[in-house]
Amino acid sequence: MKVIGLIGGMSWNSTLEYYRLINEGVSHRLGGFHSARLVLYSLDFEDIELAQHEARWDDATDILVKAGTGLKRAGADFLVICTNTMHKVADLVAERTDLPLLHIGDAVGNAITERGLNKVGLLGTRFVMEEHFYRDRLEKCFGIEVLVPSEAEQNVVDRLIYEELCQGKIIDTSRRACLNIIEGLTGRGAEGIILGCTELPLLIRPADVSVPVFDTTQLHAEAAVERALGD
Ligand code: GLU
Repeated sequence: MKVIGLIGGMSWNSTLEYYRLINEGVSHRLGGFHSARLVLYSLDFEDIELAQHEARWDDATDILVKAGTGLKRAGADFLVICTNTMHKVADLVAERTDLPLLHIGDAVGNAITERGLNKVGLLGTRFVMEEHFYRDRLEKCFGIEVLVPSEAEQNVVDRLIYEELCQGKIIDTSRRACLNIIEGLTGRGAEGIILGCTELPLLIRPADVSVPVFDTTQLHAEAAVERALGD
């Protein structure tokens, strides 16, 4: 079994889910007392959040590279960055640590393709919804059309991610607001919804939504198990 290197703490609320899902996945696949071989570098999210919002992406990259290098030294065979947003700098992290990186966009793109869907709605931080690094991966590598909410709706989702979910606050009115935004996307033709923030599955459950939901935390964790147990 390969050693998974998790760069987490962005926020720790979703890293907990990664830890649980990866261990459950290995236990399910191998049985007995098996659990995942992994090393976790859990960052102080304050440093990352400040760098993101001050557009200091080089600083944020340096922090992730330092974590990845530590994980490599600790024996990690490949890296998993436990957030969609920080995949903005994923290629740089892979290059500078010289470790293979399991891209969250590929885990999601493969799942959508397997479901046979062509057009999906995307919820996440403003960086994920507004910028191109995430959508382009799905559009160019998988041929998936990605719809995003209006600017005002993006502000609502972004605010509740940083001010609530990343601080462990699960609030009912925010769930309803999010579901309304999802309805708007399905009304525009989205055949599925990507929960493109690793904390969003804490708020939105597949049963709440009328179309297939792509939980990026779960899909990324499953892909990590697959990679760890593969050849
Ligand atoms: N975990 C979130 C994501 O998946 C947001 C936190 C962050 O900005 O990294 O994008």
